[in-house]
Amino acid sequence: MGELRMGARVDVESAGPIPLLDLARQHLHLGEELTAAVRRVAESQSFVLGAAVEEFEAAIAHYLGVGHAIGVASGTDALYLCMRLLDLRDGDEVITSPFTFFATAGAIANAGGRVVFADIDPLTFNLDPRCVADVISERTRAILPVHLFGQMVELQPLLDLADQRGLWIIEDAAQSMGAKALVGGSWRAGGTVGTLGCFSFYPTKNLGGWGDGGLITTNDPDLAERLRRLRVHGEDPGLGRYVHGEVGVNSRLDAIQAAVLSVKLRHLPGWTELRRARAAEYDRRLDVLAEVTTPVAQPDRFHVYNLYTIRAQRRTALRDHLTKRNIGSGVYYPLPLHRQPCFRGLGYEAGQFPQAERAAEEVLSLPLFPELTAAEQGRVVETIQGFYGG
Ligand SMILES: *Cc1c(COP(=O)(O)O)cnc(C)c1O
Repeated sequence: MGELRMGARVDVESAGPIPLLDLARQHLHLGEELTAAVRRVAESQSFVLGAAVEEFEAAIAHYLGVGHAIGVASGTDALYLCMRLLDLRDGDEVITSPFTFFATAGAIANAGGRVVFADIDPLTFNLDPRCVADVISERTRAILPVHLFGQMVELQPLLDLADQRGLWIIEDAAQSMGAKALVGGSWRAGGTVGTLGCFSFYPTKNLGGWGDGGLITTNDPDLAERLRRLRVHGEDPGLGRYVHGEVGVNSRLDAIQAAVLSVKLRHLPGWTELRRARAAEYDRRLDVLAEVTTPVAQPDRFHVYNLYTIRAQRRTALRDHLTKRNIGSGVYYPLPLHRQPCFRGLGYEAGQFPQAERAAEEVLSLPLFPELTAAEQGRVVETIQGFYGG
């Protein structure tokens, strides 16, 4: 059939779908290997924590270059448990970005902290360190920067602020597994530079499981030990079995997830290179459009493109145009967190974080995953060019 159509002009309206993300293609290559790994877990009948989780924790700690990696039930729980380490008391504040997935701020609130927002840098969509400095108060305990879309935040100014004020830096690295940045003259992995780092293995992340999963990283052995207790209801092996030093939660990584993630981790560096190559191709071909701003990868950062996110004029109309032509896209995120109904009580107003609000109106994420073909990517680019009359 391919031969019959060779040379024929493809009718864009009827061409096959190009999803924002197609996990089935990854599975096509890895299915056998993954199923074998899961079968081994089934044969062991050890489903929660145990050897498979310990092996994965060791492998990912080595990959990231960090002292301790603690598997938990989700990225949201990773954030929440890190907030618990702060022992927040009424009125204690944690500063974060209003332009992120909800879980970042939700974790602060759930752990009893007061969420304080600071605006983002329009070039990177990440927290602007100058805006952070403006909102630090006597009650600030930590800064929670998000490495959004796969690019790390500018960490040095935040580390300096934290140093001066005795604050913790807790990195939300859920979208940036494998990202790096030059910090203090050496390349460091996202999630390993601050006091603690949080990762998610939600299936759409760069390293995704077969369900929910998360990870906390730290170089502090005492924090690591407390996290290992908190994830099992605070049970303290030093005190005895079924003896609880503090009230923790049930947030353990499943062995099945760990087995899947151990297999996928071996492929992650290759996938990251493919993501970066696809992103460079979009940059090259979309940069020339006056109506589109391509993402800015800073020279001192290694962007891993969990999402390839442009700013687009007439964003909603462009999105409709793509949808009609069977091309997936996404808006991350349409409503900045300071405008969320649940945070009304914090007293923020519309217009208070102009960069976050502008981003929410302009961003559009395009199909990007390692298996995206050159032909598909060409069709995405041509469809965007067509929309702007190019
Ligand atoms: C995905 C994500 C989370 C939450 O992770 P889950 O595993 O879905 O709980 C937190 N923060 C950011 C920035 C994310 O993208």
